Amino acid sequence: MEDRKKLQGQVAIVTGASSGIGTGVAKALAAAGASVVVNYSSDRDEAQEVLGDIQKEGGEGFICKADVSSEAEVSAMFRETIGKYGTVDILINNAGLQKDAVFHEMTIEEWNKVIGVNLTGQFLCAREAIREFLRRGVVVERSVSAGKIICMSSVHEVIPWAGHANYAASKGGIMLLMKSIAQEYASKKIRVNSIGPGAIRTPINNEAWETPEAYQKLMKLIPAKRIGEPEDIGKAAVWLASDDSEYVTGITLFVDGGMLLYPGFEGNG
Ligand code: NAD
Repeated sequence: MEDRKKLQGQVAIVTGASSGIGTGVAKALAAAGASVVVNYSSDRDEAQEVLGDIQKEGGEGFICKADVSSEAEVSAMFRETIGKYGTVDILINNAGLQKDAVFHEMTIEEWNKVIGVNLTGQFLCAREAIREFLRRGVVVERSVSAGKIICMSSVHEVIPWAGHANYAASKGGIMLLMKSIAQEYASKKIRVNSIGPGAIRTPINNEAWETPEAYQKLMKLIPAKRIGEPEDIGKAAVWLASDDSEYVTGITLFVDGGMLLYPGFEGNG
């Protein structure tokens, strides 16, 4: 079966889809045949542009404003999606942010904001998705699974990150949130996995790649010697959302050009 058909007839919500990785994933899912809900929190024009690009390629979807850290707004997003399309098959829990600070100067606001969006946001969206997957059950014409959740984690679910303790804590939390709900619902044919991106070219980390000096420094951390692109994550998301990965649940698929391979040891033995 060619890629175009892999997600045909399925409905995907992609949080934080108005930029970066979310945009890459939304476009890849749409190209694989899914109807895509392009979630955004404030960038309406960018979300509209992403939807326009999807439609130009023959894809389908709509834009939906919701702050993923708000229980009421997340519920409303799922209600609107189910009202329009009848159900949800795929959730891409992607929205995330950083509020970096030296740990002893980190404010409670910086801590709460990052945990609220990155971790509580994933809890709220996953809970709504699982409620819908349980209600609908498996419809074999759509997928052999009742539903798929893909959490956008990071290499920082395992690599400690000085100066980013709130972010690393949120990603470490996502790892066990993902594994716990994967275990809890595997028998219901609900699959829950994460993608752990390394360094991907998006606005969240532009200071790490936008000057030649920064890029050179970054390459010391990446054995593959190139920065990742949102499309790299899009391809992984399509695989994890499709029946090709039917027997895969509870894993983090690292897409990182080898960042987790202790690159400091290269040529050091
Ligand atoms: P990005 O800043 O381009 O995208 C993040 C998106 O989340 C934005 O569209 C933003 O508007 C949205 N968002 C923020 N707060 C929100 C809220 N409350 N409700 C809804 N949406 C909200 O950065 P990105 O790199 O594309 O990040 C996407 C995800 O990938 C994040 O979870 C991030 O932690 C993760 N990630 C990125 C990298 C990387 O190198 N770029 C590496 C590892 C993990």
